[in-house]
Amino acid sequence: MARQYLVAGNWKMYGHRASIEALVKGINAGLSSLPKVQVLVCPPAPYLAEVAHSAGVNLAVGAQNIAAQEQEGALTGEVLGAMLKEVGCSHVIVGHSERRALFGDSDAIVAQKVRAALIAGLVPILCVGETLAEREGGQTEEVIARQLDAVFALSPTASLHKLVIAYEPVWAIGTGKTATPEQAQAVHQFIRGRIAAVDAKLAGSTRLLYGGSVKPDNAALIFGQPDVDGGLIGGASLKAADFLAICTAAQLQAV
Ligand code: PEP
Repeated sequence: MARQYLVAGNWKMYGHRASIEALVKGINAGLSSLPKVQVLVCPPAPYLAEVAHSAGVNLAVGAQNIAAQEQEGALTGEVLGAMLKEVGCSHVIVGHSERRALFGDSDAIVAQKVRAALIAGLVPILCVGETLAEREGGQTEEVIARQLDAVFALSPTASLHKLVIAYEPVWAIGTGKTATPEQAQAVHQFIRGRIAAVDAKLAGSTRLLYGGSVKPDNAALIFGQPDVDGGLIGGASLKAADFLAICTAAQLQAV
């Protein structure tokens, strides 16, 4: 069965209204030649509603963060999952390494955010990955297992059928150093195996994205790996031509 690739752009805290409008326009214009790829963009929060409004039917919109809480309340600065859903988001990135490292998103908080996303009807894109020191210390699998297990402990596997997991080695994010296709495949296979240990069916259906300096010139080899179902793209998603070239690499694998 052909896989449906998902390619997601994480625009982080970049852009302004005019540049974001232009980026959406550029991406929209190229989507008609990518029928086999699900394409998602994750703009900064203030632009979510506008982007959702201007995105074509084939362009999904996601947020970069979500409150861990499941109900509205006196939580200044936080954004409830239901609010993201209401303004047109279908997905949300959870546990990006920048949030884990800079904003205190522990494994426990990330697990709560995944649950909050599921309750709101959003697809969580759970980011997992090791630092360079952890890789060099031989701890990659241990770290990823811990990050995954926190989510499995809080959300019953029956509720996780929408979950997407992005393997993002921290040492590859924004650095220009990409994991080799073999390194990416080895960790993706480990992740699938870890899911299979709790639910074999879920392991087969969960989409596993690779993220970390994916560019038009390395996307095809990464997407060609058997356990890679797409990508989470940072820097290269800020240029429509580069992002579309990466989506095209996924489209070519999907046939
Ligand atoms: C990211 O921010 O999730 C990411 C993968 O960034 P980059 O593609 O720039 O490494």
